[in-house]
This record gives sequence, structure tokens and C-alpha cells, in this order.
Amino acid sequence: MAKTKPNPLAPEWLDVPDDVNAINGKIWPGNVSRSATGELTVAGVTVGDLAAQFGTPLYVLDEDDFRARAVGVRSALESAAKSIGTEAKVYYAGKAFLTTEIASWIHELGLNLDVASGGELAVALAAGVPGERIGLHGNNKSLFEIGRAVSANVGAIVIDSEIEIERIASAAGAQDKVQGVRLRVNSGVHAYTHEFLATAREDQKFGVAINDVPALVAKIRSHRHLKFLGIHSHIGSQIFALDGFVEAAKRLVELHTELLAGGDVPELNLGGGFGINYKAADDAPSLNTFAAHIAVAVKRECDARGIVVPKLAFEPGRVIAGPSSFTLYNVGTIKEVVVTDGAEPAVRKYVSVDGGMSDNARPALYEADYAASLASRNSAAEPALARVVGKHCESGDIVVRSEYLPADIASGDLLAVPATGAYCYSLSSNYNMLTRPPVVAVRAGVARLVVRGETEADLFARDVFYQELQQKNRM
Ligand SMILES: *Cc1c(COP(=O)(O)O)cnc(C)c1O
Repeated sequence: MAKTKPNPLAPEWLDVPDDVNAINGKIWPGNVSRSATGELTVAGVTVGDLAAQFGTPLYVLDEDDFRARAVGVRSALESAAKSIGTEAKVYYAGKAFLTTEIASWIHELGLNLDVASGGELAVALAAGVPGERIGLHGNNKSLFEIGRAVSANVGAIVIDSEIEIERIASAAGAQDKVQGVRLRVNSGVHAYTHEFLATAREDQKFGVAINDVPALVAKIRSHRHLKFLGIHSHIGSQIFALDGFVEAAKRLVELHTELLAGGDVPELNLGGGFGINYKAADDAPSLNTFAAHIAVAVKRECDARGIVVPKLAFEPGRVIAGPSSFTLYNVGTIKEVVVTDGAEPAVRKYVSVDGGMSDNARPALYEADYAASLASRNSAAEPALARVVGKHCESGDIVVRSEYLPADIASGDLLAVPATGAYCYSLSSNYNMLTRPPVVAVRAGVARLVVRGETEADLFARDVFYQELQQKNRM
């Protein structure tokens, strides 16, 4: 068969696939494959069965894949630390994808858990994660959140601005406790996917300026209800650039060394941000590569300054949760849109699905790119350039900006979008009064609900006028 000509509307990175039915292991969870009949299956369960049992849209979590990634990420970071004579504490960044069950897996698998709000803290505690294994972040923690974290014996609160020093010290004092704290530093390093930028201070809201750190650490140390654990830096998310981490390590070890003059600094927290593959053209470094580069840089900087390598801490989120889920949609309307502003008219196929920006805000929010596959069957049709869109009242309601899908894709087909485990469920909304989809975990041939889908009753649950109307009607 002659290869389909590339569509001029396709971005440069998108190749016409040799096999439009192929399931690329680079972007799909480990236990996803096509069955003999051509249907996508996950851990032995077909997408047809999933759709029949739970409906669409549906977040489908490959449980063994998630667990394997959590363990793999933890061991990669721990062994890299060991190779430079230290230890690593690995915190799963819960904001990527958090439910009580996921929090319980994380704890069971020996990872710590980072939370970024009182609500996330409540989920972690409800799941039985011990306080000492939890880290609390946030640039504007309320007094209530701080008090609750201190009550729960949270292992580390990450101080994000000067005013929080007093706030945390007074909460700890009131409960007669010594609270472990880190200080978040704005290292001036910001990593984009393929490059990084280094400035004196990055122009964003998080952390304190490097130059202010020594005075603030002295202030922390002056409080007997606070224990200074070390400095913290998080240089961004979905990072591919190894040299961004290397530059951050360099700046932080220098600062860490300076702080040693005033007392103990047991740990150095280098944050998260490790990038993943969303589409076949992506080439994220493996976590072993990230870990090895960071470890080598930390060791080199410590040796150069003649200091002991501190304990390291990391906060991976996306790299654990992202690749182990996909979203299953039902295809609805399809339109061929002829675009005439190029050298010659070109056609883009708009494939509408039964979800959209309410279950995956990342394309609208970050112009994130995803891939997609026809999931309910194989197709012998030619690849056609498609855009998968949702059902919301926004032209920016895009699920997959550019993908080659079989030209015969039709209403009623199931479509799956891989790598939706991170920042999809957690960023979901009820925009246009859509109900948020359920989360289903599949393992060894069994699919079960982790979070039930919302119902129309949920949409009215907080609507006071509606509740009053119901009450009146009942009288
Ligand atoms: C979001 C966040 C993380 C996790 O980032 P990923 O890109 O998901 O690894 C880690 N640390 C902090 C402070 C964060 O805000």
C-alpha cells in the first residue's frame, strides 16, 4: 500500500503512521495491547467491556503499571543517591492524581506523599498515610491548613515566604511541638521541555530569592519550635532538559554549603518535574538518566566544596501517574473541515467525543499535545489527519490537537487517549454542567471503581435554591 501523503496541516513532529492500529509502548500503559479481534484491552479487560460497565468518558488506570512506575521511580532515585553515598526520600506529588486509594498504594509501596492544600492533606490522612511521611506545600497556606498539618505531625512543611516562618512557629508552639520545615528557594532556573533558562530570580510567585535565604534560615533556626531540614527547589514540570536539573543542583549545593556555617542542614530537596512521553515523537529521558545526572552533579558540587553529600529528597508526580492511565471516549459527530488558507486546500477531520476540557484541561491550559487511537476495532483505512475535540462551548475545547486516525472512524467507535493519568482527573471540572467521569482501576482481568462518576444529582447537590425547591415540592 502506498504511504499516505503528509497533510500540510499536520505539525512537523507528527509522522504519518506506518500502521494506524499500532499501540506504541512508549505512550501506552504497560498492560495495554490490541486483542486478536483488534479491540484495545487493558490487563485482560476489553475497552468494550469497560464502556459497557462504566460508561464513557472513563479514566482507566492500569493498576500494575502505576504500581510498577511508583516502585521504579523510587528505586531509580534511591539507587542514584546510594551511588553517591547518601539516601533519597521520594515523595509522590499527590496533586498529579490523588484519591484515597492511590494515596494508600503510595504508602504501601514505600513512597512519601506531598500535598499542596488542606484538602489533599485530608485525603492523605484519610488514606492512612502517617503524618511523618507527608510534606505540605503551598504559597498561601491558611492558618487552618498549617494548624492541621502540625496536628497531624506532618514531617515537613515547605515554607514559601517569610511570613510563614512566624505562622508555622506559632502553630507548633501552641501545640508544643517541633515542626520540620524546608525553605523553598527560587533558584532562577526554569526548565522548559527541551531547554532551560537561568536568571537571578525567576519571575513567578513561588519561593524566596537566593540572596534572602541565609537571613531567613537564621530566623527559622532562632525558633525552638522549628527544625530546619534544608532548602527546596522545584524548577518546573514536564522537563526534558537534564542541564536544568544540573544547574539547579549547582546553585542549591552552593547555597546549602553556605548554610552549613550556621548549623545542621540534613537534607536537600530537588523537587519533581521529570517529563514523560505524550506522543510518539516525544523522547523523555528515562528516570535513571535524570537520577544519574542529578546525582553526579550533586556529588561534584559537594566534592568541590569539601562538604558531605546531604540526604536528597525528590517529588515526582507526573512521571509516576501520567503514563499509567488512558481516557476512553465515545465518538459522536464528525466533520471534515476544509482549510483554504494554505498553498492548497487541506482537510482536517474534527472528531467530537463525549468529554473534553472538563476531563482534560491540559490542551486548553498549556497547549499540551496528546495522541489518540481508535480503541474498539482495527481499521484497514488510510490514516487521516484528525483533531479530537470535546463537547464544550469553546473552540479551544481540544483533546488531541493533531493525530492521524483511520479515515473510517465513525460515530459509535471508542477512542482512547493515552498518558492522561497526571493532571487530568485532578484538574477536572463541571464546566457546561458535565458530570465528571469515574476512575476505574484494572488489574489481572478485573476492573473496579476507584471513584464513581458524578450523577445529575451531584450537579444539584450544592445548589441551595434547587434544594429549597425540592423541599417545597415535597411539602
Ligand atoms: C507539581 C509539583 C511537583 C510535581 O511535579 P511533576 O511535574 O508532576 O513531577 C513537585 N514539587 C512541587 C513543589 C510541585 O509544585
